[in-house]
Amino acid sequence: MFKNHLYTFILISLMMFNSPSAQVDHVGFQIDVQQLSDKVYRLTHHGFFEVNSVVYIGEDGLLLIDSGYDIGVDVMKNILNKLAPGKPVKFILTTHDHGDHFGGNIGFADAVIIAHEKALPGLKQEYFALSGLTPEENLPDILIKDDTSIFFDGLEFQIRVYPGGHTDNDFVVFIPELNILAMGGLLYSDSFPFVDLNRNCDVTGMITIYKSLFDWLPENVMIIAGHGREYTLGDLRDSYDMLVGSLAVVEHHSKKGLTREEMEEQNILGGWASWAETPLGSLSGWLNTTYATLNPPEPTEAITIGERLTEVLVEGTAEEAVELYQQLKKAAPEDILFREYDLNMLGYQLAYRQRYKDALRILHLNADEYPESANVYDSLGENYLLSGDEEEALIYYKKALEVDPEYPSAKAAVERLTGD
Ligand SMILES: [Zn+2]
Repeated sequence: MFKNHLYTFILISLMMFNSPSAQVDHVGFQIDVQQLSDKVYRLTHHGFFEVNSVVYIGEDGLLLIDSGYDIGVDVMKNILNKLAPGKPVKFILTTHDHGDHFGGNIGFADAVIIAHEKALPGLKQEYFALSGLTPEENLPDILIKDDTSIFFDGLEFQIRVYPGGHTDNDFVVFIPELNILAMGGLLYSDSFPFVDLNRNCDVTGMITIYKSLFDWLPENVMIIAGHGREYTLGDLRDSYDMLVGSLAVVEHHSKKGLTREEMEEQNILGGWASWAETPLGSLSGWLNTTYATLNPPEPTEAITIGERLTEVLVEGTAEEAVELYQQLKKAAPEDILFREYDLNMLGYQLAYRQRYKDALRILHLNADEYPESANVYDSLGENYLLSGDEEEALIYYKKALEVDPEYPSAKAAVERLTGD
């Protein structure tokens, strides 16, 4: 039905001498391009999650749905210039306030940026906190709070606002004439989704959103996920069944009086293990999310330890951040959440700003704090790789497999590094 041309653009041109010992870092960022229809392309940005954005090429300019990572923006500009020489980016529809979806906005000061009004604080803070960039000219020009449409190049782009599933400020974009839907963060293909429990989201919210999509969309729609492969409506029904089915199982065991720990021991979500084989999903994490949906924790004003340490890391070193972490951990203030997830994310954020030494320091802290987690070692492995140290990387990937012999990304990495 559609032509599929896959191009790969790789930038590995920036060599940096960043220390007196003249260590050379190879900095690369990769974006894949796939043509979806006559004027529509999907860009897949290979950052610490693979994230998709959509490019529509109009007569007088381009419209983007999401813009990928800020560190990939030069690569993206290069690509856009090849796809549509000389045409400016006129509109960017920013589906929500996660940096992997909007970071590239920094490269397009002249574009009209549209986002949900609740996205504004996140757009100001996230990522820019560590990049040191001033985002003022790249903040949204138009804030929306309800469903709306924009008309560009003679086409309607319908925007539907869907808070409560992924964040509190998501929208999806449907182009009826082309029968294409871009779902942003509301879809991670073949994976458990990320549901931000701290922002009025839960699994029930996600289920409600999917139901609404089924009522709205035509049967043969092409669905572009924020992360992962294209979906049909049938695929989306499979994801819906996973949401409904896993929540029902947790509810069943909750009613029987099992604790979250007992559910984990009994591996009650084991039937959905294939949905956990992505960087974002884990069975344990999804158990947390479904369990918290049914047993919501008291609302809290707490901030995460990641946010607190980020404040230090904007100007300071990882050593200072670790020191603060130890002090805070000891004092155990009620308004700070200590989670493996946040330290892990913080490590990756530093790594993608080429602050490898700081990244590794934070990830080692995470491994000291959560030694039973395969993921902390897997992250160390990946970050040693990013920093160019294959030997150390292999050590930590193997360590991840000691904890969980089936850990998919560590397994794949060890096979790749050892050649078998
Ligand atoms: Zn997101």
